Amino acid sequence: MVLGWMFTGRVVIAVGRYTSLRLIDSPKSVREALCVAQQSMLLRDDPRLMIYIDKVSRLIDECDRNRPLGPDGSHGDRHTATCGCEW
Ligand SMILES: [Zn+2]
Repeated sequence: MVLGWMFTGRVVIAVGRYTSLRLIDSPKSVREALCVAQQSMLLRDDPRLMIYIDKVSRLIDECDRNRPLGPDGSHGDRHTATCGCEW
């Protein structure tokens, strides 16, 4: 469970209940990679993967909390302190 994220430059740190993850990419690129992973698991149509699909979904949600998207899927000017944009 991710409790919060910190963004410094190109480094995103996901702080969870049990550990912290240091990610070298922005929330946008992390989200893109998670979506590819989720789609790959969905295409396998294996019910045993549902627990991982759910976990990846929660991570994608956390990316969206840090870098909100609009109804058209674009970030636009919905900047946050942790979205990763240079504004
Ligand atoms: Zn932004």
